[in-house]
Amino acid sequence: MKIAFIGLGNMGAPMARNLIKAGHSLRLVDLNKTVLAELEQLGGSISASAREAAQGAELVITMLPAAVHVRSVWLGEDGVLAGIAKGVPAVDCSTIDPQTARDVAAAAAKQGVAMADAPVSGGTGGAAAGTLTFMVGATPELFATLQPVLAQMGRNIVHCGEVGTGQIAKICNNLLLAISMVGVSEAMALGDALGIDTTVLAGIINSSTGRCWSSEMYNPWPGIVETAPASRGYAGGFGAELMLKDLGLATEAARQAHQPVVLGAVAQQLYQAMSQRGEGGKDFSAIINSYRKPQ
Ligand code: NAD
Repeated sequence: MKIAFIGLGNMGAPMARNLIKAGHSLRLVDLNKTVLAELEQLGGSISASAREAAQGAELVITMLPAAVHVRSVWLGEDGVLAGIAKGVPAVDCSTIDPQTARDVAAAAAKQGVAMADAPVSGGTGGAAAGTLTFMVGATPELFATLQPVLAQMGRNIVHCGEVGTGQIAKICNNLLLAISMVGVSEAMALGDALGIDTTVLAGIINSSTGRCWSSEMYNPWPGIVETAPASRGYAGGFGAELMLKDLGLATEAARQAHQPVVLGAVAQQLYQAMSQRGEGGKDFSAIINSYRKPQ
């Protein structure tokens, strides 16, 4: 299949690599010439603009940093909608606000293009391994069309509902993840300060009612989970800056819906302070340092 793939960063490049490996013919667009050259070596072809990549493509995929990039790449003069043919399926995998996802899909629909939002979870490791989860907002027909291609980049392809619902699922999950990581950090640091062995405490939590993914699989206390970023100086993993972005999307969506997100707002401020301390590049579980004496 001829696929236009726009946005080849930490996530997009490994996703595009998996599509090339699966035998698709990729038309590539990014601002970074190095990544374009590398993917060209693997068999992709470079396009000068999103418009050019979309012309003659049988599917268009984008994986961009934020809503502002999604708007310009889709709606701009040299954007996807200026080149894409009527009836060609389209999907944006970036994490953005649900309203922008709906707005861009509405503009696409005006010219006979069905568009989905399909943000992912699984991080760069999941993108490389082809094990991402895709949260898809689309009509049932478009979901059926996209499913086999998304399955070449991911393991769980979930239909969340109409366009925009993929983004809703993503921001609600990450809101909860941010809060649960703060909660686990608070409990682990309190236990340590009061004098219990943190391995014993983690064992109790993980066989009791406080158990959650943040305590069990990704415990923020160093040495509890050998594979977690906490055990390697909080390197790699899911950067606090990206979590802060997702919390911003969640709190803004909540504002628009007149919905309170009290704990989410507190978590957002804690991650904001972490970013201000210059720790935004660390894994988000380093939020525990907000509760520990400097090491
Ligand atoms: P990134 O910044 O590494 O990559 C974005 C790419 O888009 C860059 O290569 C950039 O050059 C390109 N780009 C920007 N503007 C462009 C334009 N106008 N035309 C063409 N290319 C353009 O970001 P990423 O880590 O790959 O994340 C992409 C999206 O996935 C984000 O929305 C992010 O929130 C989401 N996400 C990231 C992760 C993660 O662990 N990195 C996990 C889940 C979801």
